[in-house]
Amino acid sequence: MHGKLARKMRIYGFDTKYDIALDDNKIIEIAKNEGRTIITSDEELINRARAENLQVIRVPLDNDLPRMIKIFTVLKILPEIDPKRSRCPNCNSTLTIVDKKEVQNVPEKVLKRKKIFYKCSRCGKVYWHGSHWKKIREFEKTLKKRLKKLKEGEEN
Ligand SMILES: [Zn+2]
Repeated sequence: MHGKLARKMRIYGFDTKYDIALDDNKIIEIAKNEGRTIITSDEELINRARAENLQVIRVPLDNDLPRMIKIFTVLKILPEIDPKRSRCPNCNSTLTIVDKKEVQNVPEKVLKRKKIFYKCSRCGKVYWHGSHWKKIREFEKTLKKRLKKLKEGEEN
């Protein structure tokens, strides 16, 4: 799995484990114990996972768009971002909507302009729909369009 990809999957609401410190043995063990799908570009890991009958998705060593096209094609879902279901991109924990009175370390002008804030229940990071959010929504649109096109191609 790739770090940036893990963050995106969490925004899409997927319970996503990512830790650069995990070696292949540990990854196989976690996938087995927790019934997780391994997402990787590493051929050796793919072969080992298959030998253990674990679900594994091979993603290209490209950028996140083709990677996510691959993931959602395999999973057969048309993903939708629902901010209420998003997980913390930082640590994978759940987010709760909090009142602006409850948030700290947020720039004053953001506090003035934004109404909705999300706070991570574990790491305490606070999120809001800022300029980065626009990019995420654009990415979502492109991804959906590409997946729909692929689906149509299959049906024709
Ligand atoms: Zn967090």
